[in-house]
Amino acid sequence: MWTVEEGIARLREGGAKITSQRIAILRLLRGRTDHPSADQIYNELREDFPTISYATIYSTAQLLANSGLLQILSIDDKRVHFDPNYKPHGHFRCRACGALADFPIEKETLSSIIQVSQFNADNVQIFLYGLCDDCRKKEETAGELPNEEVCVEA
Ligand SMILES: [Zn+2]
Ligand SMILES: [Zn+2]
Repeated sequence: MWTVEEGIARLREGGAKITSQRIAILRLLRGRTDHPSADQIYNELREDFPTISYATIYSTAQLLANSGLLQILSIDDKRVHFDPNYKPHGHFRCRACGALADFPIEKETLSSIIQVSQFNADNVQIFLYGLCDDCRKKEETAGELPNEEVCVEA
């Protein structure tokens, strides 16, 4: 995982002005494993930085993505999620509760997908959708209810 200093260096290389808001975004993103959305970042920073804007959040994220420090995930059709873990891995999204989880993927698997596609791709994202363990359990218990009414003939 990268450090705030590395993040600052990459932003600078990308020609960005280093502001206290950008540093705060870096601090917040660095090392996060919960794939925050722009809304989450906005809400967490609003108290300390009342003038923070979505434009600043997105442009900072884009600069980090361009320099390879951040993955911008479009796994959710309503919002993007940010992942500071740039190492190859796939994502699972629960269709019921929206939970996002990582799963390991070998670099070789990703390369073989690119090979099969025969496209000159430089970015592969693997998204799986389904029910997480919690929601599956809930659905199973819900399936057992309501009790079937039994007609008893007198
Ligand atoms: Zn779920
Ligand atoms: Zn991830």
